[in-house]
Amino acid sequence: MRRRTVERAVRFKQKYIIDLDTGCHLWIGNTFRTGYGMFWWGEGRQYISAHTAAWLLAGRNIPDGHEICHKCHVRPCVNIDHLTTGTGKENVAMSNINGDWHHRLGKPQALTDAQYLEIHSLKHQTGKEIARQYGISERHACRIKNGWLPTAKNPLLRTHP
Ligand SMILES: [Zn+2]
Repeated sequence: MRRRTVERAVRFKQKYIIDLDTGCHLWIGNTFRTGYGMFWWGEGRQYISAHTAAWLLAGRNIPDGHEICHKCHVRPCVNIDHLTTGTGKENVAMSNINGDWHHRLGKPQALTDAQYLEIHSLKHQTGKEIARQYGISERHACRIKNGWLPTAKNPLLRTHP
């Protein structure tokens, strides 16, 4: 591997955590306003989306006119197994079978522990932006941002076993 590729791969690995429930590799670095992870690529491309970087770092190509889409519909996810290439059109069609994928993941709509932590750390985003990004209500987004956790997930509120 070229030195530059190694350097990128090392930097990339430090920027995500693995959600053991869904298998999603959640980006913890900076994100674009759209919710996609941001990765410094350089070489004229400068910042590219983290999931696209994941694809390129795996040595895969992006066919002309195609983009990298999420099969899991988790925008900050950079797990290569959750990604595929498609045209914009296919991406919309895939949204419609979204339900199937969530069904397979077994966690419809629910936020993962990692996502709660992630939202806690989003100090510079408004509730509205977070709501859009995670598909939750604005009110819920604000509560989570301010440190709220569901009782079952909050170690402070959990009763002793
Ligand atoms: Zn994923």
